[in-house]
Amino acid sequence: MDMMADLPVAVIGAGPVGLAAAAHLVERGIRPLILELGESVGAALLEWGHVRVFSPWKYNIDAAARALLDRSGWTAPDSQGLPTGGEIVRDYLAPLGRLPAIAANLKLGAEVTAITRQGHDKVANEGRKQAPFVIRYRDARGEHRAHARAVIDASGTWWRPNPIGVDGLPVPGEGEARGRIAYGIPDVVGKVRSSYAGKRVLVIGGGHSAINVALALMELQDAAPGTEIFWALRHASVERLLGGGLNDQLPERGALGLAAKQAMADGRLNMLAPFAVNRIEVQGEGLVIDASLAGKPFNLAVDRIIVTTGFRPDLSFLSEIRIALDPAVEAPPALAPLIDPNFHSCGTVPAHGIRELAHPEQIGRAHV
Ligand SMILES: Cc1cc2nc3c(=O)[nH]c(=O)nc-3n(C[C@H](O)[C@H](O)[C@H](O)COP(=O)(O)OP(=O)(O)OC[C@H]3O[C@@H](n4cnc5c(N)ncnc54)[C@H](O)[C@@H]3O)c2cc1C
Repeated sequence: MDMMADLPVAVIGAGPVGLAAAAHLVERGIRPLILELGESVGAALLEWGHVRVFSPWKYNIDAAARALLDRSGWTAPDSQGLPTGGEIVRDYLAPLGRLPAIAANLKLGAEVTAITRQGHDKVANEGRKQAPFVIRYRDARGEHRAHARAVIDASGTWWRPNPIGVDGLPVPGEGEARGRIAYGIPDVVGKVRSSYAGKRVLVIGGGHSAINVALALMELQDAAPGTEIFWALRHASVERLLGGGLNDQLPERGALGLAAKQAMADGRLNMLAPFAVNRIEVQGEGLVIDASLAGKPFNLAVDRIIVTTGFRPDLSFLSEIRIALDPAVEAPPALAPLIDPNFHSCGTVPAHGIRELAHPEQIGRAHV
């Protein structure tokens, strides 16, 4: 009897990738065990539910997920349409999560805190291949253990935003100022409008999230003219970001760059580059930022900061299993050169799969 074969494959996270992986398992007759820390599938996408993505529906729907959904009488969205994060959850992930084969194996509000191999610490070799994975997770009822024959970590990066420091560390005062700092893409023209209308807002970051925020703040400025927008970049040039324009592989992304370029030319954005924050001080209702601008000391008083400096994976629950990571990119070594941001933007990453994503933990069959 193969003991491992009776166990599910654990999937950590019920975002687009975790649910697609679960659909592929179901298609192969393998039971998934999907553990999601949020109270809904697509919990991370709901955090930026108001933002429209660059990739049309045809790129967002996985083939195995579509096959399962089609059999349930689902109506697929227009393949060329560009959904918001909220629409991806409403029109795709939520129906997928409700399918019996997924729903019966999905635990919401379940945060994975550690993974190990049964009876083996990280160093122990003997019998390791045959030892099931043990997944520890906690939910409202307490701590639990589940066994699995393999693990697919699809936990994303959303809950671990990068801090403000250009050296990758929080700057002094960043923790104390947290109540006035947002990480990610807050809904400045919607849910949290009152926190930004008529305020002096500093946006930090040089990616598409930063453009998104800057353009949304300009929309807010149209309605609340007192709103002032400062946009800080660590590098002097934004050409790489804005340059794609109409030649961008994803036209919506190119259009975002062009709109930002126009706003800069119109002087609606106070550009600060190259800019590095040294320290933040809370003063009354506002923040005083001690920074350097083009290598010279620079002070700026603002009401709010929006940080869009990217995200990192949470590796803490993987410390007791054998993983291999590129020292710089923190991705599996075969994947790292394909996604290294020194050479790639998201439009130039080639397709990849199990060969690039697998870690060194091996799985063997136990016959008893
Ligand atoms: C504003 C914005 C726009 C984007 N636009 C695009 C786009 O146009 N095209 C594109 O391809 N990509 C886009 N992305 C990237 C997008 O986030 C990813 O493509 C997609 O969300 C990745 O899905 P995922 O399942 O890997 O991660 P996520 O969507 O982050 O899902 C991970 C899930 O794991 C859960 N989780 C995390 N830790 C644990 C834990 N310890 N235990 C249990 N569960 C856990 C999370 O709650 C979450 O639900 C965009 C991202 C942002 C922020």
